[in-house]
Amino acid sequence: MSQTKELTHDDVQKIVSSYMNDDHVALVEKAYRFASICHRDQRRKSGEPYIIHPIQVAGILANLHMDPETVCAGYLHDIVEDTGATLGDIKELFGPTIALIVDGDTKLGKIHYKSNREQMAATHRKLLLAMSKDIRVMIVKLADRLHNMRTLQHLRPDKQRRISNETLEIYAPIADRLGISTIKWELEDLSLRYLNPQQYYRIVHLMNSRRDQRVAYINHAIELIKDSLKDLKLGPNVEIYGRPKHIYSVYRKMVTQHKQFSQIYDLLAIRVVVDTIKDCYAVLGAIHTSWKPMPGRFKDYIAMPKTNGYQSLHTTVIGPEGRPLEVQIRTHHMHEVAEYGVAAHWAYKEGKINGVQQTLDSRKLNVVKEILELRKESNGTDEFMQGIQSDVFADKVYAFTPKGDVIEMPVGSGPLDMAYQIHTEVGNHTTGAKVNGRIVPLDYEIKNGDIVDILTFSSSAGPSQDWLDLVKTRRARNKIRQFFRAHNRDENIETGKQMIATQLRDAGYDPLALMTEEKSVQVAQAMHYNTADDMFAAVGFGDLAPVGVRNRFTADIRQKERSDRQAAAQKALLEDHETLEKPSEKQAKASSEGVVVEGVDNMLVRLSHCCDPVPGDSIVGYITKGRGVSIHRADCPNIANAEKSGQRLVTVYWANPNGDKTNYDADIEVQGYNRNGMLNDILRSINNSTRFLNSVNGKVDHNKMVTISLTIGVRNLQQLELIMNALKNIKDVYVVKRVIH
Ligand code: MN
Repeated sequence: MSQTKELTHDDVQKIVSSYMNDDHVALVEKAYRFASICHRDQRRKSGEPYIIHPIQVAGILANLHMDPETVCAGYLHDIVEDTGATLGDIKELFGPTIALIVDGDTKLGKIHYKSNREQMAATHRKLLLAMSKDIRVMIVKLADRLHNMRTLQHLRPDKQRRISNETLEIYAPIADRLGISTIKWELEDLSLRYLNPQQYYRIVHLMNSRRDQRVAYINHAIELIKDSLKDLKLGPNVEIYGRPKHIYSVYRKMVTQHKQFSQIYDLLAIRVVVDTIKDCYAVLGAIHTSWKPMPGRFKDYIAMPKTNGYQSLHTTVIGPEGRPLEVQIRTHHMHEVAEYGVAAHWAYKEGKINGVQQTLDSRKLNVVKEILELRKESNGTDEFMQGIQSDVFADKVYAFTPKGDVIEMPVGSGPLDMAYQIHTEVGNHTTGAKVNGRIVPLDYEIKNGDIVDILTFSSSAGPSQDWLDLVKTRRARNKIRQFFRAHNRDENIETGKQMIATQLRDAGYDPLALMTEEKSVQVAQAMHYNTADDMFAAVGFGDLAPVGVRNRFTADIRQKERSDRQAAAQKALLEDHETLEKPSEKQAKASSEGVVVEGVDNMLVRLSHCCDPVPGDSIVGYITKGRGVSIHRADCPNIANAEKSGQRLVTVYWANPNGDKTNYDADIEVQGYNRNGMLNDILRSINNSTRFLNSVNGKVDHNKMVTISLTIGVRNLQQLELIMNALKNIKDVYVVKRVIH
């Protein structure tokens, strides 16, 4: 494991001066001074002044050659959490970018991860994405964790184990995903030291006991490789060196491959670093010519990079003295990526103020773009990359519970959406929410990385009606509606009854006479409800339009009224004209459209297409020039226009209000939420009632609301209403109406 010397601030300044310009060195100096003032009264568990910790974190970042902002954030990362200084202070002194990184790290510090293996992969992915606001948040966090692990001996043993577990399960894999292998290895080795000290020290001992012998062997092998490369005309910067093996990787092999320490041959490992890819393959050829490669041990990660960007050629050969020797071959650039991974992306570049001028958005985009690029190059098999890709396009927001669970929601979601996402009971008992420690209103819009604490009260009264306007997700909305359906049933039944009664009264009927128990059951059955109460509850709750129910209750009466009117009209006609014609003959004079024009025979009758009247509709007609009588529904606005333009209205009625065998076109419009299977459900419902579906048109808007226009053939109004009511009962259908063009 690495021998790490504690750095002083002067050491850090020396490192940053080696690669940053004077302005940036001064900025880092300022961050150090501010941090040492803020932390001046604090001590670590070890008793040392606290400032030692931020110095080490900044030092780790400086050794990665990170940009000035990241190194500053290293100095400042614990200030908001532990001292009187605020994020506002940091913003004022160091600008918004550094403040954002510090803020991200402060929030990350509050999350306690759950070690549920099944959730782990998903958690990683979401955590990473949530941090992709600025991935430097994670890089600082890794440096922070690394120093905490290096000084873990000062904590209680149970804490040592908990933190080591968390490191091994969360942080080391993240370092790996980000390709920062230097940090990954050290985190793994340190974790093992606390989780399995016996094995750890045994491996250390075994490695040390043969160190001299091993170093001699490696040096010998390096000389032989150098010889074999002589004729290759490689570039000037070839490096060949023995590669230290990491304790944890030896341990893992012993455990997973059930091997003894002595069997783990790739303890002997050599790395060759060259200038070009061509040189890599040339070196590989030379080594395979000198020593026999072991079958199944060659891997070409140059042609097929790992998903974190790692590239190298790996081979194991039967080396000098017949001992297996692992060789890695890569270019200098590949080496940088292998050691520093994503961090290399922000590594300071001479002359460029890397990051200072870039906006946050373009940074975020760059990371995502980079990851997507990697995916393209890596066969696209990795779930992690696929996950990132789909998430990026899905407009999701990720928030945390105080326990560290990651909750994924559509952008725009609020605390209630999150509460229902967690559990229906949590949602139903929500009384408020805290975001990042502060109480927020329920219409707060959750942002990536928020820590959301849903406040609940076990005996709260439950959801309130206005929640339906606050929630963004269908899940939450459905759960709230479900609650009302179940919990307010009695109330809904009563409300529903009242609504129907009012409708009836407004239309001039006597509710008491109509809403008998017998009649209510009849209507409920016709509308496909099991009981009358179910139907009333649906009305009261808002699932069923009261007007449809009212029409059901009054259908018989209206029918009778219509035939009465007809009889009266016929009687009047007969009396007026004193003709010899018999009523039956008069009926026969109805036009081919089934419409009788009062007082006129043999008139050409045309059903207007603006409102498509069907038998049973109240209708009026007007006489058009040369085209006979145009028949409209009584409520068609075109009638008023016709009247205005001086056309003569005539009284018309259906020869048979129940229609005959003819089918009449009716245009209806259905609006609803465009869920899967919506159109199918609509078409199936229509097919149950009529064979005449003449046209279907649909369009979906950006809110996933669909409007479907249908032309169907029906015999009469009754059949049309039946069809429309059935459509209204389809899940997620909000509006069903007849169309007037
Ligand atoms: Mn810290």
